[in-house]
Amino acid sequence: MSTPAGPSEVRVRFAPSPTGYLHVGGARTALFDWLFARQHNGTFILRIEDTDVERSSEEMTRGILDAMTWLGLHWDEGPYFQSKRLDLYRELAERLVSGGHAYLDEGAIRFRVPEGRVTYQDAVFGEISVESDTIENFVLLRSDKHPTYHLSVVVDDIDMRISHVIRGADHISNTPKQILLYRALGASLPVFAHLPLILGPDKTRLSKRHGATSVSAYQEQGILPEAMRNFLALLGWAPGNDQEMFDDEALIQAFSLQGISKANAVFNPEKLAWFNAQYIARLPHDKVVEYLRPEYAKVGLWRDSFEKEDREWFRSLIDLYRPRAKVLQDFPRQSRIFLTDHVEFDPTAVEKFLKDETVRGHLRRLADRLAALPEFNHHSIEEAVRGLANELGVKPGVLMNPARVALTGQSVAPGLFDVMVLFGRENTVQRLRLS
Ligand code: GLU
Repeated sequence: MSTPAGPSEVRVRFAPSPTGYLHVGGARTALFDWLFARQHNGTFILRIEDTDVERSSEEMTRGILDAMTWLGLHWDEGPYFQSKRLDLYRELAERLVSGGHAYLDEGAIRFRVPEGRVTYQDAVFGEISVESDTIENFVLLRSDKHPTYHLSVVVDDIDMRISHVIRGADHISNTPKQILLYRALGASLPVFAHLPLILGPDKTRLSKRHGATSVSAYQEQGILPEAMRNFLALLGWAPGNDQEMFDDEALIQAFSLQGISKANAVFNPEKLAWFNAQYIARLPHDKVVEYLRPEYAKVGLWRDSFEKEDREWFRSLIDLYRPRAKVLQDFPRQSRIFLTDHVEFDPTAVEKFLKDETVRGHLRRLADRLAALPEFNHHSIEEAVRGLANELGVKPGVLMNPARVALTGQSVAPGLFDVMVLFGRENTVQRLRLS
């Protein structure tokens, strides 16, 4: 086996079993491992624990790698596959037998638990101490020569020179057994840091009942990876002040094992939605476009000119919707009116605002005014609308509400003057005249 990691070399691993999708809990573990590695200029290793042949699948492995890539959790080493390392586990099991630490039992190899207490210092949960006589002689290698989780995880953590084992609290009860294995193999212990459980809003353990639990489901819902990372980071870790928004750099700086709480974390989907809206509003334009491009393409509204000659126009369009958008799909859905000639009129809005012949006459007059403006911009449009309302002795809303419906088909839309600018003069005038 390899030499142990030097005292200052941080090597952490994320070790999912490909028996399911990457869920929120796994993603949080991966994120904390990644943050810790980045903070210490360490190495983040990805290891696929696929020794359970029946329950593991390549498709699940692919899904996990894709979800991690989407989340921006890039690994430095791996992925290693435990299914390709079976010889090593067998060899070490044999060695434990020859050293008297394990014995054959009906074709399987079983660990002989020594007497005494097993005590260790968990970086999150503090001292954990277990009397050995509460631990049964557990199987290391099954009769089919496949390792159990305990054997393969310890052999790999030693072989891969893992310095810190950062993983979910569901593994706390496994740790004493694993420590006994480290000792029997003559290896020094890594630091163990167990992450608190994640509960749903009703304080029961997070499960499908609480809605989406897989990371890819959030991707499909139009959540940004930045928002997901920021949200996951605060599931069980806190910076010690009330800062909530963290970009990667800030997170890498602020993260620490000391900041991880023992108390269960609560998964609050509304908080995730809040983060998403924040990031949608704040990310640089090009980044947003990178995420929006496939969304527009999916509904047939993408044009390459959005990144070329219509770049500025598209930027204004996106900016118009940013303040209120909650998910990526809101953009194509709401901005569709600017991208197709076909206006879909909401019958209630038409009934309410466009029925009256006097009002339609007002809109035609407004169209004439706008057509005659020396310049067509937010300010000049606003002046024209207010000026005409004044002359007609009506409130501006009497013109603006029907104009909004005439242009967009809807009674709710972003600011009317911005909408007109984006439509351009010709389109605006034409739609007002047609009303
Ligand atoms: N493969 C284990 C799991 O998915 C993780 C093992 C570990 O982190 O020690 O739960």
